[in-house]
Amino acid sequence: MLPERTDVLVVGAGPTGLAVAVTLAGHGVTATVVDRLAEPPVTSRAAVVHAGTLEVLDRIGIAAPLAARGLRSARFSVRDRDRVLVTVPFDRLPSRYPYALLISQAETEAVLADRLTALGGRVLRPYEMTGLDLDGDGAVARFGGGRAVRARWVVGADGMHSRVRELAGIGFGGPADPGESFLLADVHVDSTLPRDQVSLFLSRQGPLVWAPLPDGTVRLVATVDDAPRDPQAHHFQALLDERGPARRPDRVTGMAWSSRFRIHHRIASTYRSGPVLLAGDAAHVHSPAGGQGMNLGLRDAVALGDALAAGPQALDGYAADRRPLAEEVLGFAAGLTRLAAAPPPLRPLRNLLLRLVSTVPPARHRIATRLAGFEPARTRPRPRPRPRPR
Ligand SMILES: Cc1cc2nc3c(=O)[nH]c(=O)nc-3n(C[C@H](O)[C@H](O)[C@H](O)COP(=O)(O)OP(=O)(O)OC[C@H]3O[C@@H](n4cnc5c(N)ncnc54)[C@H](O)[C@@H]3O)c2cc1C
Repeated sequence: MLPERTDVLVVGAGPTGLAVAVTLAGHGVTATVVDRLAEPPVTSRAAVVHAGTLEVLDRIGIAAPLAARGLRSARFSVRDRDRVLVTVPFDRLPSRYPYALLISQAETEAVLADRLTALGGRVLRPYEMTGLDLDGDGAVARFGGGRAVRARWVVGADGMHSRVRELAGIGFGGPADPGESFLLADVHVDSTLPRDQVSLFLSRQGPLVWAPLPDGTVRLVATVDDAPRDPQAHHFQALLDERGPARRPDRVTGMAWSSRFRIHHRIASTYRSGPVLLAGDAAHVHSPAGGQGMNLGLRDAVALGDALAAGPQALDGYAADRRPLAEEVLGFAAGLTRLAAAPPPLRPLRNLLLRLVSTVPPARHRIATRLAGFEPARTRPRPRPRPRPR
C-alpha cells in the first residue's frame, strides 16, 4: 500500500532507484520506492560493472555479493579482426576489485533488492506515477485510482523517458540526430577468443563488443544502420562474420536473448529542481560503448543517497558534482564510437596509434582507469553523515 506521506519517494526500481534506497537505508532513512512494473525484468541488459563502481558499491554492502555472482575479466582487448591492437589490463588497478565484473543486469538488480530487503525496505509494485505537483513543502506525486503521496523529496530514477523529469519541467537536451542504433544478444558460440576478457572489435561498419557472461553465453553488442525488429541468431552470425575473427571465425550455435535499441546522447539540464532530484538514465543517456551507462547511474545513486541523508545543503553539491561527470562519460563513449568507425583511409593510422599505445604501460593504465570509472576526488564518497532523526 502506498503511504500518504514519506520523506523520500524514489520513482523507479531499476539499478539506480534500488541503489538510492539501499544507500538511504544504510543511513537509517527509509525511502518509499515505487515501480510501475508488477515484477522486475529478467533480461540481462547492461552486462558489466566496473572496478570504480564496485568500490562505491562496497560502501553499501553490494560489491561482495555481486562479485560472487559475476565473471571477472582481468583484461579488455581492442582488435581489428585477428589483430590485437591493444590490451588494457584491469589487474593493476588500485582497487580491491581489479577487474571488470561481467554480470547480467537482472542479477545486479536482484542483489540490490535482496540488500534492500535485508535492511527492512521493499519496492511497492505496480504503481505508476502519473502526476507531480511541486510546492513549498515538497511535492505530491499522483498515481492511478486517485492515490497520492506527499514527499519532501522525489527522486526521478525512472529511466530514459522519465515522467519525473518531464513533470518537473527539466530539459533533456542533446544533438538532434536520429541517435545510434544497436543490436544486442546473449548467444551460445563456438569461439577461440579468450573467455576471461572482453574483446572490442573495431570495424569500418562499426564496433562489435564480445563479452563472456557467467552463464556461458557471450554478449554481443553492435551498432547497425537498420536493426531488425526481432533479431535472430543469423543476424549475429552475420555481424561476427563481418567484424569478428577472420582466420578462425566464431560460430553461433544458439541464442538466449536478443534485443535492439536506439540511443540518443542526452543530459538533463539540471539534476535538481526544488524537491526533485534526478539520477541514472533519467539524468543521462549515451551509447553503451565502454559499458558506462548503468555504472554511472549506480555511482549517482550512492552519491544521491549520501546527499539526501546528509541534508538539503548537500543536494546542490550532488547536482553540481554529478552533471559534469555525465558530460565526461558522454564524451568518452562518443570518442570510442568515433574510434571504431574511423573511415577506411584513417584506419591504418588509428591501428598504428593504438599499437603504439599498447607499448606504453602508463597509457594502457590510463585507459584502464578511465574505463573502470574511478571518479575525481570531489565526488568520492563523502564522510559518512550521521543519520537524520526520522
Ligand atoms: C535492451 C537494453 C540493453 C542495454 N544494454 C546495455 C549495455 O550493454 N550497457 C550499458 O551500460 N547499458 C545498457 N543498457 C542501459 C541500462 O540498462 C541502463 O543504463 C540502466 O538500466 C539504467 O538504470 P536506471 O535504474 O537509471 O533506469 P531503468 O533501468 O530504466 O529503470 C527505471 C525504472 O523506472 C520504472 N518506471 C518508469 N517510469 C515510471 C513511472 N512513471 N512510475 C513508476 N515507475 C516507473 C521502470 O519500470 C523501471 O523499472 C541497456 C538497456 C536496454 C533496454
